[in-house]
Amino acid sequence: MSVQPKTGREWHLVARPHGWPKPEDFALRETAVPEPGPGQILVRNIHLSVDPYMRGRMNDVKSYTPPFQLDQPMEGGAVGEVIASNADTVAVGDHVLHGLGWREYAVVDAKRTAKVDPEIAPLSAYLGVLGMPGLTAYAGLFEVAAFKEGDTVFVSGAAGAVGSQVGQMAKIKGAARVIGSAGSDEKVKLLVEEYGFDAAFNYKNGPVAAQLKEAAPDGIDVYFDNVGGEHLEAALSSFNVHGRATICGMIAQYNATEPTPAPRNLAHVIGKRLRLQGILVGDHAALQPQFVAEVGEWLREGKLQYRETVVEGIENAYDAFVGLLRGENTGKMIVSFAN
Ligand code: NAP
Repeated sequence: MSVQPKTGREWHLVARPHGWPKPEDFALRETAVPEPGPGQILVRNIHLSVDPYMRGRMNDVKSYTPPFQLDQPMEGGAVGEVIASNADTVAVGDHVLHGLGWREYAVVDAKRTAKVDPEIAPLSAYLGVLGMPGLTAYAGLFEVAAFKEGDTVFVSGAAGAVGSQVGQMAKIKGAARVIGSAGSDEKVKLLVEEYGFDAAFNYKNGPVAAQLKEAAPDGIDVYFDNVGGEHLEAALSSFNVHGRATICGMIAQYNATEPTPAPRNLAHVIGKRLRLQGILVGDHAALQPQFVAEVGEWLREGKLQYRETVVEGIENAYDAFVGLLRGENTGKMIVSFAN
């Protein structure tokens, strides 16, 4: 039986970053671990998720999620083992997915958790390929972009958690051609040699528009945007008539201190009758059972590959987060500890 820990470490935001986050904007603090109240459970976190959207929650601006509070633990996806339970529905020893990451121990309402099974998939997969990023890829490609067989698909951030799934899912469902962009030659090699992309390029090696035109000489029908900026502008130029874009993320501007320019060629939307639509994965929760069933099958059959970059130790969570923004990850960035 696990003993109730007296204290645990958690990451607090102590200042709002201006531009790129700095170590002094964050503090790893040791605090008392409360006992779970009625309906609550105590979870020993095992894997934490660091995600690009967290950068937005560090700003004090109105958005679709509230900003992190200063001098409070940050939040985020986590999976862990239940070590105490005051809830009928969850037992000690169960594994759960919940939203109180960035800390070693979490006291959380049982109804705000989802049980996960380590026998079906490694626990970290519930933060990546079988979790929020995987569902984002699935919903963004099939529901928002209305992908259909024979489409040519371009995805940016293609070696990341979301992007790597988008490209492979498009191939599995019969894309005519899948093109990815990523920030290193190693990532480009992975896309083509292991994930089955038809073409890929390193956006740091030259202008995106020219590299995309070369990779997609007959144009693109779907663009899955994880990056914004120059990538979006290039996609607008390469779109065929009636092209569809899923606007999922704009990581190229998350640390910008000045407003970034709009695509200079937005008028293509008119002539090509384009549809650009944003996605918030939370709107697509109803797809979850279908997503888990279909993607689970692709994983079992070996049709879908995934990678994780694992950083060990809660003390390294800040480095993992900034590393994610710098592109140090291939696939899902995970912080792992308490083993
Ligand atoms: P990820 O792609 O695993 O990691 C972020 C990647 O962004 C880095 O590895 C880096 O790869 C790339 N990057 C960083 N700066 C860049 C720049 N200036 N230009 C081009 N690429 C850059 O992260 P993820 O979790 O899968 O998220 C991908 C995108 O989806 C993010 O924009 C995120 O905000 C968004 N997202 C949106 C939703 C939603 O509901 N709307 C949900 C999940 C994620 P390189 O080495 O290739 O540069």
